[in-house]
Amino acid sequence: MLKELDTTVAGAGPIAVASLDAGASGALVCAPVISLEQFALAGDARFTVMNSSTGNRFTFRVQRASGEVATRPWFVKLLTGDNNETSYTYLGTIFADQLVYRHGRKSRIAHDAPGARAFDWLWRNRERLPEGVRVNHEGRCGRCGRALTVPESVASGFGPECINLV
Ligand SMILES: [Zn+2]
Repeated sequence: MLKELDTTVAGAGPIAVASLDAGASGALVCAPVISLEQFALAGDARFTVMNSSTGNRFTFRVQRASGEVATRPWFVKLLTGDNNETSYTYLGTIFADQLVYRHGRKSRIAHDAPGARAFDWLWRNRERLPEGVRVNHEGRCGRCGRALTVPESVASGFGPECINLV
């Protein structure tokens, strides 16, 4: 079911795409190992969401708060500059309790800005992305953020050690 997709970032690969052959069902087609939710919550995940019907494209980074507490949240950031290493701006928080996403009151990005609305929408629709929406990882391990090099890692979105830990 997984389709080979052209990717726009060197070393990047698909995490999830809306099925192109499922008619109106819009069923999610995932990379073989992992769902979009699993990837996003793996620890330090960067991914780009593209919507071919609107032309919109946003890159997000989702980092879990450090510490040992099981209920620690994930902080969602939006790529807002041209340095894809440092130009992330805090957007909101995913809470461990029921994995609800909320826009951050302290975010410098307005709750109704396009990137903020895009993540809110993506998270609510993460298990059933509409046709034409696809999500690519950014060529970095979703758990530890290291660059992915070998083809198996690019395919899964995780380095060879981290793939066994998610
Ligand atoms: Zn890793």
